[in-house]
Amino acid sequence: MKQGSTVYLVGAGPGRADLLTLRAAQVLAMADVVLYDRLVSAEVLSMARPGALLVDAGKEHGRQEETQRRILEQLDFYAQRHRHVVRLKGGDPCVFGRGAEEWQWLRERGWEVELVPGVTSALAAPALAGIPPTFRGVARSFAVVTGHACAEQEPDWKALAAVDTLIILMGVARRAHIARQLMAAGRSAGEPVAFVENATLPDERVVTTDLAAVAAGIVEAGNPAVMVVGGVVRLRERLAGSLLEAQDLAPPGTR
Ligand code: SAH
Repeated sequence: MKQGSTVYLVGAGPGRADLLTLRAAQVLAMADVVLYDRLVSAEVLSMARPGALLVDAGKEHGRQEETQRRILEQLDFYAQRHRHVVRLKGGDPCVFGRGAEEWQWLRERGWEVELVPGVTSALAAPALAGIPPTFRGVARSFAVVTGHACAEQEPDWKALAAVDTLIILMGVARRAHIARQLMAAGRSAGEPVAFVENATLPDERVVTTDLAAVAAGIVEAGNPAVMVVGGVVRLRERLAGSLLEAQDLAPPGTR
């Protein structure tokens, strides 16, 4: 093991700082260097020790391999010079964040690594919008899938269509294609779909629609967003609809 430095692979959660784990907050408070990803919110970054060096590791579009290599070299560089190096990633570091790859590489280089799990946007973004991944009588299984796929690595939509709730990350750009694939694999055109954009942040926006509309290319959605397909989307009205509306719907005498 090299001279006492630790690299912490830390999940920053979906956005809001109060959704960090206690361990993440502790580690940020003692950080010498924080190498952060584009999706990490300013509020979470402000939890870093005053005086910590904040390094934007942001990925440039289309140059991901090059950027990833640069990030690994930066981690090695800072670990040689500082005791507490934090690699801060949106959500959970091991959910589509290449966190485990970085972990493996750092271990090969002889660095001590501590993983600090985070609240993944895959589950928290829908749930906070009133869309739970499972619900008795509605959904007994869910899958978290990447919608960003190179042609040769298209997810197996036929197999995935058998899962009750589909939670798709990085799927905004290909949303129409994904919806068409799911319909071709047997999901019904009227099946509800939600996009939860900028979850937990001040500009959060939730769009609910159905597969046919998404497939037709008429549904606006912006990045970053979690796309959810399945009957659980309908629960949003009951769980997160305004109380006033809920009261209006209540039978007389029960208000
Ligand atoms: N490791 C992350 C996911 C990284 S992939 C996690 O566990 O959350 C990046 C994708 O995550 C985005 O394309 C989007 O689909 C989703 N995402 C991350 N933060 C989000 C947020 N605040 N609101 C909505 N989607 C988010």
